[in-house]
Amino acid sequence: MKILVVNSGSSSIKFKFFSMPEEKLLAGGSIERIGKEDARFRASVTSPPGEVTDVVAKIGDHREGLSKVIDWLLAKETELIDDIEEIEAVGHRVVHGAELFQAPTLIDSKVLRGLADCTALAPLHNPANILGIEVATGLLPKAPQVAIFDTAFHQSIPDFAYRYAVPESFYTDYKVRRYGFHGTSHSYVAKQAASYLDRPIDELNLITIHLGNGASMAAIKNGQSVDTTMGLTPLEGLIMGTRCGDLDPAIPFYMMEEAGFDTDQIDNLLNKSSGLKGVCGFNDMRDIETRASQGEAAPKLALNMFCYRVKKYIGAYAAALGRLDAVVFTAGIGENSATVRELCCENLGIFGLEIDAQKNIDVQAKICPIQKDTSTVKVFVIPTNEELEIAIQTLDLLNTKD
Ligand code: ADP
Repeated sequence: MKILVVNSGSSSIKFKFFSMPEEKLLAGGSIERIGKEDARFRASVTSPPGEVTDVVAKIGDHREGLSKVIDWLLAKETELIDDIEEIEAVGHRVVHGAELFQAPTLIDSKVLRGLADCTALAPLHNPANILGIEVATGLLPKAPQVAIFDTAFHQSIPDFAYRYAVPESFYTDYKVRRYGFHGTSHSYVAKQAASYLDRPIDELNLITIHLGNGASMAAIKNGQSVDTTMGLTPLEGLIMGTRCGDLDPAIPFYMMEEAGFDTDQIDNLLNKSSGLKGVCGFNDMRDIETRASQGEAAPKLALNMFCYRVKKYIGAYAAALGRLDAVVFTAGIGENSATVRELCCENLGIFGLEIDAQKNIDVQAKICPIQKDTSTVKVFVIPTNEELEIAIQTLDLLNTKD
């Protein structure tokens, strides 16, 4: 079965095209700056490599954008499909499913109304996701459309971990609670770790650490998420590229009083000008590492703060889990930065976790164990693949419906 995975943003569409169940990536690409004169459509075929498209031209809206993707899949040169009906299903990334959607969901008009109900919780993301679903449904009416939620994997978190200690009406009337995000990534790397260890996932206790521009961790007990660092929104938890992560909640009020910021400014400052960027002016970990190694104080501080926060949560989640089988690093920073992994795991011998300095440096783009032989906890670096996980979950859902 050929499955198109769509990640629709407010002015972008990212896609990957898979042949399943072989998990074979056939093609992928993106459209950026939708609605602008200089929209950019980039796409490439996996095999034969080299069939690359890169066009800058006006793309009026998401409908026109997705039409271009489908035309490209159908084009003779790509040799991917001859008929539109060969796109047998579409898996959509949806950021927020609130408590309404706890699993992959086949989309119909009732589900679309439910997604609209979740919009207040993700005003920047859900409308764009819904638009992508509507456009794909119009262009591919025969293909089942499936929603895969960033939040769903964390719906197993118990109430004492997802509730905030605020008046109950915040939760009952306004749905304020921890939801967590990056669920497809945490779920994917957890399953990869289980398959590498050749053990059933429901017997494993893991801490998964997704360190990209956005960053989050999950405590996974017997295969199920029991806690995660992001909260009502992706702002909570770890220090990120431009997001502050955990904060004394009084700081925004204090700064509104003292510096005269309004709510929009505070929102912007905490989401876009904080995190690594706020501390040292850079949000790309490569720049930070280079400057820190040259002795610059602010990048060094940013690096230390970033890794200390991760380490603190490893300790917290080890306590929450009781027994820890493995820790998994993933995403751009987690997969590529030996320095970050080393600092995050420093002095964790108390939990039986020790990484091997050489194995940590020798990591390649595949599942790599990096713990010392004496470490009782395994430590893995595992490349994440959120789009593949969306295709897998889409296929699983369609198979169970048959
Ligand atoms: P996103 O959240 O945008 O998907 P990614 O998972 O692609 O993010 O991670 C992007 C981050 O990965 C970049 O900000 C960069 O700091 C980091 N990164 C990528 N390669 C390296 C590297 N070799 N060393 C350190 N950090 C890296």
